[in-house]
Amino acid sequence: MSPKNEPSFRESVDLMFNRAVQLMDLPPGLGQQMRLCNATYTVRFGVRLRGEMQTFTGYRAVHSDHIEPVKGGIRYSEAVNQDEVEALAALMTYKCALVDAPYGGSKGGLCINPREYEEHELEIITRRFAYELIKRDLINPSQNVPAPDMGTGEREMAWIADQYARMNTTDINARACVTGKPLIGGGIAGRVEATGRGVQYALQEFFREAKDVSKAQLSGTLDGKRIVVQGLGNVGFHAAKFLQQEDGARIIGIIERDGALVSENGLDVETIHNWIAKNGGVSGFPDATFVADGAKVLEQDCDILVPAALEGVINLENAKKIKAPLIIEAANGPVTAGADDILRKNGCVIIPDMYANAGGVTVSYFEWVKNLSHIRFGRMQRRQEEARHEMVLREFENLSKAMGETWSLSPSFKKQYLRGAGELELVRSGLDDTMRSSFQSMREIWHERKDVTDLRTAAYLVSIGKVAASYQTKGL
Ligand code: GLU
Repeated sequence: MSPKNEPSFRESVDLMFNRAVQLMDLPPGLGQQMRLCNATYTVRFGVRLRGEMQTFTGYRAVHSDHIEPVKGGIRYSEAVNQDEVEALAALMTYKCALVDAPYGGSKGGLCINPREYEEHELEIITRRFAYELIKRDLINPSQNVPAPDMGTGEREMAWIADQYARMNTTDINARACVTGKPLIGGGIAGRVEATGRGVQYALQEFFREAKDVSKAQLSGTLDGKRIVVQGLGNVGFHAAKFLQQEDGARIIGIIERDGALVSENGLDVETIHNWIAKNGGVSGFPDATFVADGAKVLEQDCDILVPAALEGVINLENAKKIKAPLIIEAANGPVTAGADDILRKNGCVIIPDMYANAGGVTVSYFEWVKNLSHIRFGRMQRRQEEARHEMVLREFENLSKAMGETWSLSPSFKKQYLRGAGELELVRSGLDDTMRSSFQSMREIWHERKDVTDLRTAAYLVSIGKVAASYQTKGL
């Protein structure tokens, strides 16, 4: 959480938005219209639990409906409030525009500590919250499509989908009312890890550009880079795991709710994830140094800092002490506007949230399209693709025989080449392509415009430009 003397999360997002708008030539009033959150619905409902009536407060904010449906997760946390939900909804508008996901921005939240409730209680609460939103079209396949966020996951999305289906028995597209569902309930392969995978693809793309890497005072590839991760939830866990296992990065610090673990030799992400699942925190983990004041580890010397937990964790209090030359915002809003100014002046490169964590909504988009088309990706083409590859290989072998030679391809090449793409491969390919092309669109502005000195402003310029164009084509 940011200190008291800082603007709120929403104000912080507004400040960053305004900084970008000043560099643009928008028609009068359009910037203001885009910045404001269109509407926020607050609902208070009672649920009979444990012999008494308990009252819950929930929100669904629609920041911009320049394209419908609007999109954004539902968060379960005691810290949820209107300001936060509106800030997150605004980020969804810009995020969707940046990665070309055809949605406006929305976000929802329920003030609840999900750890305090049994599964069956959470189901009743979730269904009731969903009922309140569905009856006002704040959950609807063509108007507003939620997804998981902090404190929610596949399980909650399945309950929401079922609740919608019960209330809309003749809607053939009912499953598209929410994304992030389990595969068996209309979900898509690769959605659970999508945000973490997107963080990995974002870093891979960044490290393909030597010029950008040197701007961050780094060199070489991701291999051997020393990384500190804050939050081993869904996003942080998958990002850290993939970066460690597939890119050779060294995870030297993991910050969790109850403290942090550090080890220069590297921490095994999967082992620690299992430890947390069993013990509820990182403390007591034997193969690393435990630091009780976890937030201090944000200030540790490292190559890349990955805040993947809450907003406002890098703020006016600690920004000057951050040593990482490269920060990738896996969480939404982890760096406040004030901290952003300080870090920028110190030469730190920040890969901004609206791009860095857009993998989630990108794969949500694929899931929604899958639901609307009522067919799994790859189902029609896969075997046909394999048959064509086989034809090529057979022809190649026949040719070699005709020439009196026997060229043989290695069995592992054949196996890989012959395999047609299934849903998971297609999702990964679509996500990778999205992360690469969105990065290039930001980077172009970052390098070409002298008045743009950071990736966040560049990201805002790209997305505000697209939202403005969308408003203008409608004559607004
Ligand atoms: N909650 C995620 C986010 O902040 C996913 C949103 C979605 O898939 O709609 O981006």
